[in-house]
Amino acid sequence: MQISVTKAKDLKPKPDESKLGFGNLFTDHIFNMDYNPDKGWHHPRIEPYAPIVMDPATMVLHYGQAVFEGLKGYRTASGKIQLFRAKDNFARMNRSCNLLCIPELDTDLLLEALKALLKVEKDWVPKAEGTSLYIRPTVIATDPYLGVRASKTYRYFVILSPVGAYYAAGFNPVKIWITKNHVRAVRGGIGEAKTPANYAASLLAGDRATKNGYAQVLWLDGVEQKYVEEVGSMNIFFVIKDELITPMLNGSILPGITRDSVIALAKHWKIKVSERKISIDEVIDSHRSGKLQEIFGSGTAAVISPVGEMKYCDEIMKVGDAKVGPLANRFFKALTDIQYGKAEDPMGWMETVC
Ligand SMILES: *Cc1c(COP(=O)(O)O)cnc(C)c1O
Repeated sequence: MQISVTKAKDLKPKPDESKLGFGNLFTDHIFNMDYNPDKGWHHPRIEPYAPIVMDPATMVLHYGQAVFEGLKGYRTASGKIQLFRAKDNFARMNRSCNLLCIPELDTDLLLEALKALLKVEKDWVPKAEGTSLYIRPTVIATDPYLGVRASKTYRYFVILSPVGAYYAAGFNPVKIWITKNHVRAVRGGIGEAKTPANYAASLLAGDRATKNGYAQVLWLDGVEQKYVEEVGSMNIFFVIKDELITPMLNGSILPGITRDSVIALAKHWKIKVSERKISIDEVIDSHRSGKLQEIFGSGTAAVISPVGEMKYCDEIMKVGDAKVGPLANRFFKALTDIQYGKAEDPMGWMETVC
């Protein structure tokens, strides 16, 4: 399929790279593509960034039938632009589509389209240390219809946002709040899909955590509220007696690409790593007996997010003296060095755009 390109007439001024935040600025162009039952996915096009005008009855607004992805474009020291595991993001998007009754997309076309968009927007990939271009592919249901069923038409789009260094103020441990009163997802539901509904389901608990002075919620499983699942919108890792442990994928946990990368690096480094069920009682007991060494989250935005404190019921527990642990540090450095082209890429994760 031929991707058409319509260039924007007026380009926005580029932002001050030292003041970049997250997800508040967007580039000059968008990639769009549509689906209908007759033509399938068709009309791939790059065009000026603009609002989406839609009927107030558009199904995505009422029933939330949508999926999205999140990945980043990185600028290397030599000025190249590269992507981290983009094919894996598109493969995951198709798995999310299946769970949301959305027709699958051609992942080769999506990668080609993303590279074409990045070439048009290459000057938007920031150069300053720790900055990147955040990429948000999204699919939304577009039938104007209020009956409950899967939509027959869809829009796929990709928008780009230059983002600042996540740890501008240094690599700081976060405080997490463990609750049994809220759950994010249940097995058999859509917890393993990257879909807006899971975020809507997390807002109230997130708000309660913030009001209690905690940055993130540690989610327990939705059935027994016994087993650890995720932290905020990240996957979670524990280091207990030199073993790296992360909850095994069970249908309600989002299969993070950073999670998978941490596991792959751990195996490469011959660190003992287990994907298994881990109960909150095991975590608390390991803390009480002094065997809990580290906790950290993993995700595209922060890469690695060390946990310095957790609160469960009325107990407040410091993790690793509230300092950044050696493994969190090692994974953060190894992953970001690969992403910015400062280190070898032993796993073949990087894809050059231009
Ligand atoms: C996106 C996401 C993650 C992290 O996935 P990455 O591919 O590593 O960015 C973890 N949990 C949830 C709920 C997510 O939406």
